[in-house]
Amino acid sequence: MKIGFLGLGIMGCGMARNLMKAGHEVTVWNRTAAKCTAFAKEGARVGATPREVVAANEVTFAMLADPAAARAVCLGPDGAAAGAAAGHDYVDVSTVDAATAQAVAAAVTATGARFLEAPVSGTKKPAEDGTLIFLTGGDAALYEKVGPLLDVMGKKRVFLGAVGQGARMKLVVNMIMGTMITALGEGIALASKSGLEGAALLDVLAAGAMACPMFAGKGPGILADSFPTAFPLKHQQKDLRLAVALGDELHQPLAVAAAVNEAYKRAIAMGLADADMSAVARAVRG
Ligand code: NAP
Repeated sequence: MKIGFLGLGIMGCGMARNLMKAGHEVTVWNRTAAKCTAFAKEGARVGATPREVVAANEVTFAMLADPAAARAVCLGPDGAAAGAAAGHDYVDVSTVDAATAQAVAAAVTATGARFLEAPVSGTKKPAEDGTLIFLTGGDAALYEKVGPLLDVMGKKRVFLGAVGQGARMKLVVNMIMGTMITALGEGIALASKSGLEGAALLDVLAAGAMACPMFAGKGPGILADSFPTAFPLKHQQKDLRLAVALGDELHQPLAVAAAVNEAYKRAIAMGLADADMSAVARAVRG
């Protein structure tokens, strides 16, 4: 199939490559054009604008940083919606709030094209390995059509209903993730000040009901104060900010998530925006 891919960041690179490996004819575009060079060498076409990519392909995926980026790439004069028409499909896999997903959906569907939101759970390695989890909402027929493409990039997909439900599910999931990693950071700091070995704490956690792949994966980095970026901390703070805003909108108290959001803001102020999200451990260490 002829597929467009907008956004070659940490996640987009792995996802676009998996579509190419599966034999699809992929056209890439990225705001910073230099990131397209490696893809061109690997056989991808390179589009000049999102508009051109959407117009030239049957299905276009977008994997962008945040709501501002998702809106800019879709809604601008050379944006994706300007290239859309009946017969074209647009699948936004960025993590955004429901209002952004709905604004993008409205612009795309007004052209006669179809829209699916499909934010992902998983990080850099699952994006490379094709083991992401897609949280989708929108056009049910499009969900069925792109199912085989999502299966190339992921191991699980769920359809959650109207546009906005995928975004909300993703924000809830990442709110829980941000609070868990911050709690681990605090626990490691407290253990260390108690004269306990951090490795012993991870060992105890791994043996019981709190064992989880994230603690096993990120824990050693926190112990070593080393945070190679898989999920940029600035994006985790964006997700906490959007989750707290969703709580405001729905009058749902989020005392823990709000405190964790403050820890993430502190980490950004400490210069850790582009480090891995687990670098929040440095901000809570005191
Ligand atoms: P990233 O490496 O920071 O890449 C962000 C992408 O967005 C880049 O292609 C960037 O282009 C583009 N972009 C940013 N602002 C833009 C703008 N105003 N106009 C056009 N393009 C713009 O981020 P990532 O880790 O791949 O994450 C992408 C999305 O997936 C985010 O919503 C994130 O929350 C979500 N996500 C990430 C992970 C993860 O573990 N990394 C996991 C699940 C979901 P440039 O190259 O020009 O900067």
